[in-house]
Amino acid sequence: MENYHTHTRRCCHADGEDRDYVLKAIDEGLTVLGFSDHTPWPFENPGKKRGRMYPQELGDYVSSVRSLRDEFAGKIDIRLGLEVEPYVEYYGWLKEHVEKFSIEYLILGSHYLTTEEEMFLGKRCSASDMIVSFENTRKAVETGLFKYICHPDLVFNNYPVFDENCISASRDLLALAQEHRIPVEYNTSGFIKQERGLVKGLGYPTEGFWDMAQDYDVDVYIGLDAHSPYFISRERYQKASEYLKSKGLHVINP
Ligand SMILES: [Zn+2]
Ligand SMILES: [Zn+2]
Repeated sequence: MENYHTHTRRCCHADGEDRDYVLKAIDEGLTVLGFSDHTPWPFENPGKKRGRMYPQELGDYVSSVRSLRDEFAGKIDIRLGLEVEPYVEYYGWLKEHVEKFSIEYLILGSHYLTTEEEMFLGKRCSASDMIVSFENTRKAVETGLFKYICHPDLVFNNYPVFDENCISASRDLLALAQEHRIPVEYNTSGFIKQERGLVKGLGYPTEGFWDMAQDYDVDVYIGLDAHSPYFISRERYQKASEYLKSKGLHVINP
């Protein structure tokens, strides 16, 4: 079991110390734990912290992950990554920092339509928003910077029914993934939102999307998207793995 999607409390919406995530991952039998906290951006306003670390916190994040990697070597393989919004106009800045800090991998996680970040896509996403979101994702994928696309079905979370708009958005995304040979993520954190009664629509992972995925030549990563050590669960991971295999989907980290 390898999970490449793990946050830290630096993003202000995750709990627990970095080392608690590692201890839980070892307990649950993971062999790889990749940290991929939300990447900082240079436009962050110091007066209004959003759901991510400040650029000046990146050094602390990197040194914490590196020291855990050394401390737990032989017990679990710790990797250093970042989850990145599709803000391609800032990718020059991003690439400089990836190089400076030797970040090992990037995953593409889209949560908003613009850098204004007015509405979280998991909260509200209309049919026309789905089109804008897809265009953002397409531009980001075309940069070739990413290991995989996170929660491709987050946009359906609070959408009422899997209608023509959802079919069209899913088709666009799956065709893009197939064309660029970029895997898509089966993100199990949506199940925790359901458990906690936070879902008012289809929820994610979205059944309709994964039904459609069977018709495309795409690879899948299971991602726990851990926002607390609790999210790291062998049981949840194995359930996801069995579900994807039953659908005939190729899972990279089964
Ligand atoms: Zn995300
Ligand atoms: Zn995430």
